[in-house]
This record gives sequence, structure tokens and C-alpha cells, in this order.
Amino acid sequence: MALIVQKFGGTSVADVEHIRAVAAHVKKEVDAGNQVAVVVSAMAGVTNQLVDYVDQTGKLYDAREYDVVVSSGEQITSGLLALVLQDMGVSARSWLGWQFPIETNSAHGKARIEGIETDAVLKSINGGEVAVVPGFQGVGSDGRITTLGRGGSDTSAVALAAALGADRCDIYTDVDGVYTTDPRIVAKARKLDKITYEEMLEMASVGAKVLQTRSVEIAMKHGVRLQVRSSFSGETGTLVVDEDEIVEHELISGIAYSRDEAKITLVAVPDKPGIAASIFGPLADANINVDMIVQNVSADPEHKATDLTFTVTEADLERAVAVVKSHEKDLGYKDLQSDGDVVKISVIGVGMRSHAGIAQRMFQSLAEKGINIQVISTSEIKVSVLIGEEYAELALRALHTTYGLDGE
Ligand code: ASP
Ligand code: MG
Repeated sequence: MALIVQKFGGTSVADVEHIRAVAAHVKKEVDAGNQVAVVVSAMAGVTNQLVDYVDQTGKLYDAREYDVVVSSGEQITSGLLALVLQDMGVSARSWLGWQFPIETNSAHGKARIEGIETDAVLKSINGGEVAVVPGFQGVGSDGRITTLGRGGSDTSAVALAAALGADRCDIYTDVDGVYTTDPRIVAKARKLDKITYEEMLEMASVGAKVLQTRSVEIAMKHGVRLQVRSSFSGETGTLVVDEDEIVEHELISGIAYSRDEAKITLVAVPDKPGIAASIFGPLADANINVDMIVQNVSADPEHKATDLTFTVTEADLERAVAVVKSHEKDLGYKDLQSDGDVVKISVIGVGMRSHAGIAQRMFQSLAEKGINIQVISTSEIKVSVLIGEEYAELALRALHTTYGLDGE
């Protein structure tokens, strides 16, 4: 007998008919003799609707009340799934976040799970009941309901699997696994059987929106065996596992992209100590995340000036420009240029650790297509480039072929 956590996303619970199909997946595990805890999202579109209601109340809302409103979508689906399971003859009950409790900090709207009390729920599961749990919610250190940030149900599921010591955490979604790249853009993209936590983390954070990043971090930390699979087909999905579980490594596992990027260039910034700190300090204070950074030494030594380029999310662009401009006098740059029409493409693979020349093949491949690289950044298992948005699809297809990822 295994203990399995199953998580179903919004499209899988879009209406009661879909919830019935979800219940059938749950019943299958139960009939196989397994114990099950199910984590559900809100019905597709519901959370957006709830956020929109909050927005209509005014811009300076109380984040605690935001959480009261937006957490409600998951409460509905957990009650409905428990009802449908009961209707199918499966013993089940819902467990709201405060009933465990699922303890979080009090950062409302983006809370982090700090602990899950599992005694009561385990007793119920051991007594033969399926536990149905609303994802996305917990109870804060202030005693009030919290939410974990958009997409947070994945994190609820993985954290619950870790706390329960589950044998597996199946994330059911509307895609049948993790692909080498976005199959809507590259028709030859392939589903991966396995991927490492580290690669998945890079895939998640650079824009392959299969799993919330935080959920992968927790899975990696606690060794939770994750499986991403489709709720619409019976097929096995992609297993996210430890590196030593993968015998034969592909050099590159996947290529991710993110359109949510914007570039800011400061032309002729004085080249002196402290200048980077005085640019990025105020941005950090304004809670603006800077991603890629390049700094050039000016070719003209007389001027002792340098150009500095960095990227932020598109949503932060306007604010970032305003922050930098408000320090224009101290910074002393000649010109500020900004560009939201850029995309970041990243090739990812743990094979990079042991093989040279991966980045070079990327640059060569893009050069052959006449695509100009604006910014480059690398990590141990990733090479990212920033290019013009209009080249995104061309670049993805070319790189997919270059690294031998094309399926039939
Ligand atoms: N319903 C929440 C959202 O849409 C959480 C989730 O589905 O993961 O962000
Ligand atoms: Mg999601």
C-alpha cells in the first residue's frame, strides 16, 4: 500500500463533470489499495475572477482581505470533489487549511508554508478516508487565512506530500508531461520521461509554466518523487527525480523561453567603484527583481565611462525606469534606453557540467539564422540569451534541432 498525493489544476476541475473525471482518477488509486490525499485548485478562471473583484474595490487593498476572497475558489472545489467521491461510494472529506493547520508566515498574498500538522489528517487517511485539500491556502502566524501566490496549489501538494512522507506526488494538469520545449511553438518537441529537480527548477523559473518554482524547490529539498501527468489521458507523464536516478543524460534536456522580459540600458555611466550598487540598491528597495546584467568597459579610456544593461520583468519596466531616473543626478549617465520587445531563451541541462562547447553551439546556431544576441548569462546548467521578441519562434526551432532534441 502506498500513500499518494494527487493534485489537480484548474482546467481539470473546470466544472462538476470534470470533477467527476478527477474523482475517477482518485478512485482508481483507492481501488488499487492505495491511500490518497488530493489537492485541488480553483475551477479554471475562478481565481482570476476573484482577483478582479478585489481590484474593483480600490487599488490599496488590505492583503489579508484579498486572501479571504481569493482563497475561496479552492474551498468550493474541495467540497465538490468530496461530494462527488462520496456519491461514487468513496469515503472522503475535505480539510481546509486551518483545519490541519497548514501553517504559513503572514506574508499575505505570497505566504510561505512553515509547517503542516498532519496528525488529524493521517488518522482520517489511516481510517480509510480520502483527504481532499484546497490548494493555495494556509493559516498565517497572525491566525488569518493566507494564500501562497499564484500557482500555489502545486506548492501545497508537494509540501503536503513531504509532510505526509508520501510515496509519490502526481501533479495532474492539462499537458501530459514536461516537454523539451513548448510544443505549441515547436511541433517536434518531445515529452521527457524524466528530468532532474535542478533542470525542472530552471525550466520553471525561465518560463515553462508547468509547475510553480517553489514547489520544485520543496520537492528537491525533501526528495519528493514528483510526476507531471495529464488528467485527460491515462498515460504516464514526466518524473521529476534526483540526478542519480537518471542513467543516460541528454546533454540538453530542454529549451525554455520567457517573453516577460524588458531591457534597460544606461549609456555612459561613470566607471567608478560603487556605481553598480547605487543603481541596483534603489531597484532592490523598490522590490524590483533584476535578472540579467551586463556591463561593458568603454572603449575610450579618456571618458572613463561604461554602458550598463540589465533586464527586469515587463511588468516592472515602467517602475524600474522611474526609479533609475529619480537617481539620474547621482548616477550621471548620458542616456537611458528601454525596450520591452525582447525574449529570453535558455538551454538547460545537467550534462553541461561535464561538456564544453554547449554555449558556443547556441551562439553559432543563432548566428546562422541572423539573430542578434543582446545579453548573455550563464549558470552551471543553463545558458540564456536575450534576443528580439520577433525571433523567439525561429530561435526555439533552430536550437531544438541543434541540440538533437527533435522528435519525429
Ligand atoms: N487557484 C490559484 C491560482 O490560480 C492557485 C493554483 O491554481 O495553483 O493561482
Ligand atoms: Mg498551475
